[in-house]
Amino acid sequence: MKESIFELLIKTAKLALETEDIPVAAIVINQDNKITGVGFNTRNKEQNIACHAEINAINQAIKNSGVINLSGYKIISTLEPCEMCYGAIKQAKIKEINFILSNAKYGINNIYSINDIDIKIVKIGNIQQQNNYQELLETFFKNKR
Ligand SMILES: [Zn+2]
Repeated sequence: MKESIFELLIKTAKLALETEDIPVAAIVINQDNKITGVGFNTRNKEQNIACHAEINAINQAIKNSGVINLSGYKIISTLEPCEMCYGAIKQAKIKEINFILSNAKYGINNIYSINDIDIKIVKIGNIQQQNNYQELLETFFKNKR
């Protein structure tokens, strides 16, 4: 993954920490590789369970692009999307999901067999990027305890 994209994701994920939200960020990219939506987890902040990073990024992309059909777009998330976000991604007709770390607890791979998923799913990021983000998450959960 390009370092600039990775840095944007980490910087955005850290914004969630202000309201003790899990640091997760997502970016929506259009066919021309332009960033049209950026979001982070604001569940606590908004007191709204639907305010995951992916859904926030999709809503911003829809607002910015003026269309509700994001086919041809791609979403990059720091964490493997959950079932709710997968549903939103499908609704937006996004055809590719990229993520840095798997989500052992809520990730879609735990729920759906790969044959049921018609969206291209790619794990991205080099080892250093994966470790950096892992550390951010671990620090968050350590401080929570
Ligand atoms: Zn989610």
